Amino acid sequence: MHRLTESIIDNATIILIIAHPDDEAMFFYPTISRAKRLHIICLSNGGYDGLGEQREKELQRAARRLGASATCVNNAALQDGPHAWDPSVVAANVGPWLHAGAVVVTFDRYGASGHANHVAVYHGAAPASFARRGDGVTRDARRRPAARPDETRLPVLRARDGASL
Ligand SMILES: [Zn+2]
Repeated sequence: MHRLTESIIDNATIILIIAHPDDEAMFFYPTISRAKRLHIICLSNGGYDGLGEQREKELQRAARRLGASATCVNNAALQDGPHAWDPSVVAANVGPWLHAGAVVVTFDRYGASGHANHVAVYHGAAPASFARRGDGVTRDARRRPAARPDETRLPVLRARDGASL
């Protein structure tokens, strides 16, 4: 995995992939508070206790305060709860948001807190991100074979500050 440097946070478009509203603040705040271009993809509305609509609005408010945009996917197969999500469903819902040059920030393989939904986000987001990164490396290598690929153009999977994936 690539280290998420200050330069990357400052210059790249950061795509934060989370499972529930509040994850952005609980697990990623120090990193995302610095991002200049941030889009949050939240896979559920966090409605396990019946407060999904309210939590979704809170996510939108939090995003506005961060100068970010947020999308709550809330697919029927990705509902908040103690069960594991199918990583392929996660990947299918995350893939369309990834683009060349974007840096993906998400949970580590332990889901930061061990929550089954968080772990599934890691397993679903990682392959989608790596596929995009592979494309970027190939293009960069062709153009500048002797140069180090420009790290700001490669998606980075990163959990919380200080933790490598
Ligand atoms: Zn969560």
